[in-house]
Amino acid sequence: MIKFLDLQKINAQYAAELKQAAAEVIDKGWFLLGERVKIFEQQYSDFIGVKNTVACANGLDALRLILRAYIELGIMQEGDEVIVPANTYIATILAITDNRLKPAWVEPDIKTYNLNISLLEQAVTPKTKAIMAVHLYGRACWSEKLERLAEKYSLKIIEDNAQAAGAYHYFTDNIRKRTGNLGDAAGNSFYPGKNLGALGDSGAVTTSDGELAAVVRALANYGSQEKYVNKYQGLNSRMDEIQAAFLSVKLKYLDLENEIRRQIANYYMENIKNEQIILPTPTEHKESHVQHIFAIRTKQRDKLQAYLAANDIQTLIHYPIPPHKQTCYREWNHCSFPITERIHKEVLSLPVSPCLMMEEVEQTVSSINKFKS
Ligand SMILES: *Cc1c(COP(=O)(O)O)cnc(C)c1O
Repeated sequence: MIKFLDLQKINAQYAAELKQAAAEVIDKGWFLLGERVKIFEQQYSDFIGVKNTVACANGLDALRLILRAYIELGIMQEGDEVIVPANTYIATILAITDNRLKPAWVEPDIKTYNLNISLLEQAVTPKTKAIMAVHLYGRACWSEKLERLAEKYSLKIIEDNAQAAGAYHYFTDNIRKRTGNLGDAAGNSFYPGKNLGALGDSGAVTTSDGELAAVVRALANYGSQEKYVNKYQGLNSRMDEIQAAFLSVKLKYLDLENEIRRQIANYYMENIKNEQIILPTPTEHKESHVQHIFAIRTKQRDKLQAYLAANDIQTLIHYPIPPHKQTCYREWNHCSFPITERIHKEVLSLPVSPCLMMEEVEQTVSSINKFKS
């Protein structure tokens, strides 16, 4: 069986280092708000290129905390609107609605599966305060046009970097910056299945805005900057020392693992040949994509998935139901976003795990090439 993502195998590569890291934390007996988190925060800031990393409990909280901090700072208030792609993972939307803000849905570009930046301006209203740029599937979603629009309407740009740890956006003259360092602040997820995965839940806010970082840090710790003194009605959303220790081990290998994912994706791009299948559109620079998800599209999606399963190849769908069609968002169920809905009906994610063997990738391609509807 070719697994979609074999977490056992991925972490087995680093087993000795991970066990050592855990042992050090256990021996020290300090589990929260300690050195390991501080060290990881500095390492991640250096990696991403930002001034501040604030570790927290998970990626959803990272996004919630950013918006909550903007509310505490008086930059946003209840009922304000946040522009967001309609085809994102539910967490992006939950972070908005949890803060009593309103998602202003924008259709994606069918070529990139990311926010269609040419549709942004028509979504702006006097209540718009921010744009959520989701780097979906690991592909950087950024452009000068996006920056200009944000400036024109004084909007914050918040990146949802949950799927794109390690990706770069290229500016002119080949100057590049990592995603997570492009907007005003970014939410990062270290969920075990993400490209930089902890061995449990974890996340982080990255930002070069020191004032925002301080508020996020307080909000994640009961709203407190000083023990037993509470400035805000905060949450308890902190990264465990043990997860930070694991992440310091795994961060060292992230660029390498992303490169292996890109090689697998590249093999798919060059060798999948089946008229029923639409391959993803390549990025101009290969490092603008970290191939968190390699999604192909076909009108025969469910048939293809069943056929591959019968051939011992596990695939997943990211995602089967768009957020606006979820039961939890009844008030938007009537909305129609044809491109988003089409993507949800047609996408199928192939395995791109950095631990796949070349034979497994070849076998996947040869099965796909033989598929007839
Ligand atoms: C995973 C993910 C999140 C949430 O991260 P968690 O750590 O699972 O809470 C947010 N947005 C996107 C796009 C994601 O893929």
